[in-house]
Amino acid sequence: MSAPPSRTRAQVLAPSPASEPVPASPTPSVPADGGSGTTRTYEKRPFLLDFFPLETAKDTRLSRFFDRLREGHLSTTRCAKDGELLWPPRTACPKCHGEALEWVDLPETGRIYAFSAVLAGAPLGMEDQVPFAVGLVDLEGVPLRLFGRIEGRPWNQLSVGQTVRVESFDIGDGRFFYRFRAPT
Ligand SMILES: [Zn+2]
Repeated sequence: MSAPPSRTRAQVLAPSPASEPVPASPTPSVPADGGSGTTRTYEKRPFLLDFFPLETAKDTRLSRFFDRLREGHLSTTRCAKDGELLWPPRTACPKCHGEALEWVDLPETGRIYAFSAVLAGAPLGMEDQVPFAVGLVDLEGVPLRLFGRIEGRPWNQLSVGQTVRVESFDIGDGRFFYRFRAPT
């Protein structure tokens, strides 16, 4: 085997032994000065502090999720055997353990179930975006409650029950992620 095993979130949270140097980052580098002018570009971070997942087919069996985000759609997997709608998308159904999963697009609107504001202590690379809102959103018509950033309005102008739209965005290095947008 030539490729090292993928790191897990548990490893991300585990402190490195003091005697071992942090391994070099295998993630794509991110230009510090951005490029597009309109898309927020995050600073290059060490792999273990990278907030966003690796997205290509060589990194994850869930690359289809990110491909659909790139096309502007939020999707997930559903078990073809028992119909269980899964979030986040999975490679195996946690209910029946089957791997016969199908990809389905999710509704593009939802309602805020709860929200909060990040006023301090933002993740690395997001320090200059403080304050910003995060929240739980119930997607319209499906039994899924998703966590994510909420843009579009200052946090103190958001309200529980408010309708938001799902949108995908380029995080600045070619990778995509989803967030919610409240109407202005
Ligand atoms: Zn199942």
